[in-house]
Amino acid sequence: MYGIMVYPVLSSSSEHFFLIQAYQGFQAYCTLPQGVIAITSMKTTVIKNIANTSQGLKILPKAYRHLMAQSVASLTPKIQNAGFDALIAKLNHELAAKNLIHLNIETYFGDEWFCPDQTTAIAIPFWLADDRLRAIERTLVGFVEGETDEEFIRLLRHEAGHCVEHAYRLSRRKDWREVFGNPNIKYDPEFVATIPGAPDFVVNLSGGYAQTHPEEDFAETFAVVINPQSNYRKIYQSKSVALKKLVFVEKILAECAQKKPRALSTRKISNARRMKRSLESYYQTRLRRQTQSTLLN
Ligand SMILES: [Zn+2]
Repeated sequence: MYGIMVYPVLSSSSEHFFLIQAYQGFQAYCTLPQGVIAITSMKTTVIKNIANTSQGLKILPKAYRHLMAQSVASLTPKIQNAGFDALIAKLNHELAAKNLIHLNIETYFGDEWFCPDQTTAIAIPFWLADDRLRAIERTLVGFVEGETDEEFIRLLRHEAGHCVEHAYRLSRRKDWREVFGNPNIKYDPEFVATIPGAPDFVVNLSGGYAQTHPEEDFAETFAVVINPQSNYRKIYQSKSVALKKLVFVEKILAECAQKKPRALSTRKISNARRMKRSLESYYQTRLRRQTQSTLLN
């Protein structure tokens, strides 16, 4: 998946660039063309000069600095050796509980959380592979998406939603579009304004991710429907639009269970085990991209 963050830039110049990363819990308001956006969160991370120079390396614990010169591929184990088996089995169990037993979903280490277009593959970011990589991610980015088992399974469910949508071509259905909207709308994953707590949307991941695109809206709704602990009929009983989405997804999943899915590729786009670039190069590109996105918006 793509991260949703709004980055209020406090001040910038070529020499000193301060960026406040706002995510879960930080309280801020930014005025954007789309309107006034409230971000509710608690943590902030200040990253100084990190996007344009290698200064960021200096804030890494010494024990990890030497890893930055190594290739991403050399640091990435096989997914089977990373200790995620129980969580992946949990996802498969939840899919089986909905009788979605013919899906061929494959997981692998990529460079972020996502499901490649028209595949039933799920990329799990390589920086979750071990403690050292998680520590580097936390230092340079400020947080580690999917670090806890609870967050990990929520992300897996979300990406599985994309796999199901691809395998059954759900977004081509007229009734799907009536509920979630036109899936062909333009999508800027780097910068999306959302309104926390918007009642018409289902929340699986924190923030307002469902608001970013009809396909994300579906994936978030799917994730809540397959979560055996979601108790969604009670939680969303007073939110009629969100509840309608949940009931609709439950209904189409029952239909899917009767059909064979399309046999799709499980092509591993951005396969971390094939990335020859160094870890330093990976972070420089990623953080530069985030910064440019901030400045552009
Ligand atoms: Zn998604």
